[in-house]
Amino acid sequence: SGSIVVKDLADQLGIKATELIKRLINLGVMVGVNHELDKETAVIVATELGAEVEERASVQEQEEILIQGEEDAPESLRERPPVVTVMGHVDHGKTSLLDRIRSTRVTQSEAGGITQHIGASVVEHDGHPIVFLDTPGHEAFTAMRARGAQVTDIAILVVAANDGVMPQTVEAINHAKAANVPIVVAINKIDLPDANPERVRTELTEYGLIAEEWGGDTIMVPVSARTGEGIDKLLEALLVQAEIMELKANPDRPASGTIIEAKLDRGRGPVATVLVKRGTLHVGDVFLSGTVWGRVRALINDRGQRVKEVGPSMPVEVLGFNELPEAGDDFVIMPDERQAKSIADARANRLRASSESGPRGVSLDEFYQRL
Ligand code: GDP
Ligand code: MG
Repeated sequence: SGSIVVKDLADQLGIKATELIKRLINLGVMVGVNHELDKETAVIVATELGAEVEERASVQEQEEILIQGEEDAPESLRERPPVVTVMGHVDHGKTSLLDRIRSTRVTQSEAGGITQHIGASVVEHDGHPIVFLDTPGHEAFTAMRARGAQVTDIAILVVAANDGVMPQTVEAINHAKAANVPIVVAINKIDLPDANPERVRTELTEYGLIAEEWGGDTIMVPVSARTGEGIDKLLEALLVQAEIMELKANPDRPASGTIIEAKLDRGRGPVATVLVKRGTLHVGDVFLSGTVWGRVRALINDRGQRVKEVGPSMPVEVLGFNELPEAGDDFVIMPDERQAKSIADARANRLRASSESGPRGVSLDEFYQRL
């Protein structure tokens, strides 16, 4: 007791043995990887390194402050559209419902409304936009959440009226509850002769979803993705739900949001769809996303149109990334390229360091206790 082998000390500090040996040499201690260090020396060198680790942490905190910006004053907040995800059991009609909702939009709009796949689409109902994430199913939902991103405001739970509540229906309910996302139920396929919406309502009560007409607070709308029946009522219900939630954001600040899709395009290089959470994103803005940065070269909306700026809740394809970002990562506007690059580089270095030397799991306190 009272001594530790250099190799083990390096492990505990989460650094390479060669780095530790260099430090020790600077302190006038000539050792190899298998040498034993006395406790005093170990503490001195660990403290020195620990101070650096803490310094690095505070740089990280500064980054966060720079990135998150100031809190928005209540009077700066404006209503923003709801962001909606469709969930439910396989074959209950998620894709059909999304297609139906989107085609409703296209027929209502003037000519040339060709939908471009950017991972989300905007539909207007009574002049109010509603944003739909295109990827149905909870896989996308949970993958995003696993990265700490929550972009969904409301989940549409699709339940086929001829089939009722199935295992993935229950999973979807659990995911939405865990994420604290309210559910609007679409009881689908009511055009089928064996459709039984009452049975669906009854089954859902077992999972705490009580229909409004039964005195509960879950909006349930019978629909048919095939015939289009009830689709307007469903859109109306989403707006009602959004109103209850008082969804707001400050549009008058530098944008921040989440990457919802990213791909390497043959002609255009790395492109990503960003869902703006707050602020307004402009062409020319400098941004940072994970270890990737760039300057917005072009913004393209879900109709394939080039736009100059986009506000809260809106999805937009962004060109100008230096590398491919990752879905679920934050996207933030930076004051200038130098700062964007320096934080991106620092993050990349941190990632590299932690993958080279294993997890930096030990706090200084823990380390001292182990000695
Ligand atoms: P998903 O797996 O939840 O995305 O389900 P799909 O949208 O792929 O639909 C599964 C099947 O149900 C397809 O054959 C659809 O044509 C059919 N379907 C979807 N919605 C309806 C509906 O409202 N009525 C009827 N009769 N069939 C539907
Ligand atoms: Mg599908």
